[in-house]
Amino acid sequence: MEPALHEAELIRVRLRFVEPFRTAHTATATKDALLVRVQTDAGAGWGECTAPASPEYDGETVDGARAALRDHLLPRAFAGVGFAAVPGNRAANAALECALLDARLRADAIPLRLWLGSRETVDAGVAVGITDDLDQLRSTVRSYATAGYRRIKCKIEPGRDVDVLRAVRAELGADVELAADANGSYDYKGARRLFDAIDGLGLQCVEQPCAADAVDEHAALVSEVRTPICLDEPVTSPAAARQIIARHACDALAVKVGRLGISGARQVHDECVTASIAALAGGMLETGIGRAALLAVAALPGFTRTGDCAGSDRFFGSDGDLTEPFTVVDGKLAVPTGPGLGVEPIPERLARATIARERITPRD
Ligand code: MG
Repeated sequence: MEPALHEAELIRVRLRFVEPFRTAHTATATKDALLVRVQTDAGAGWGECTAPASPEYDGETVDGARAALRDHLLPRAFAGVGFAAVPGNRAANAALECALLDARLRADAIPLRLWLGSRETVDAGVAVGITDDLDQLRSTVRSYATAGYRRIKCKIEPGRDVDVLRAVRAELGADVELAADANGSYDYKGARRLFDAIDGLGLQCVEQPCAADAVDEHAALVSEVRTPICLDEPVTSPAAARQIIARHACDALAVKVGRLGISGARQVHDECVTASIAALAGGMLETGIGRAALLAVAALPGFTRTGDCAGSDRFFGSDGDLTEPFTVVDGKLAVPTGPGLGVEPIPERLARATIARERITPRD
């Protein structure tokens, strides 16, 4: 029996990144997130909506998610009607699912990790944004390797790719796994040229070389190039994952709890295990709330390769996250052990980061 939802709060927070994060589409200096705090008859729960401030990544935005939660998903949840049936709005859906599950598991004193059947730790991996300064990049990746990170994923785009990956490989040698993420910024011909140049570098994978809907192009690349192809942006549901796998359009899938929700991410993980496709846990630059859910999911047994799970300090410094920081120790991050997500915002930090909050009740 699901606990009844009485009230929810939508808390918009803004945290400053320690350095701007640049992808093929955007450069962001701040992290905008929407926290969902639910109050149920079993108690409170938290979730984080990972939709970015602007829509370049996958069309969803944090403001769109807020409207979807306030006007559509929460009214359904108050009425006890399934909100998961609402199409789209995936990040909003995932945040509400997480908050309701957190409340239920807290009430039952069950850690999310145990509920999922996950391991205790996750190997640490980090995504590095695009930069024009290769010397700076070399020193950045060296510092991550020294801090124990097992995988470094470099954001790339046409013109800032081969030199970047060669420089990082030369800096790190074979000790650290190296991946690239193009966020769909190549056409097929450009991707072929890229792979011709980097196929000898032994990358773990290149994530999303071509556009999200370029299924045929990715299927061709899978059959033509040596470097494994990982898809991310089109992995919007377990059904979408099944179709991508059936079309032989990937060697690996990025599984994002922020987009798929906890149960959806587990289902995509299961699809990958069944199909013997590598599953990589994908991050969305989460604050500590979303990071707790990411780690619990990333510790599922089928995630055997290192994905996007980084420590809090990589994004927000040692004391800038909303929660107690997640810290890399011996190359690993520990999944929280407390009930539910096992973390909560620290009140002073939440107050400092909050730029708007809205209380939603069944009457609104
Ligand atoms: Mg990606």
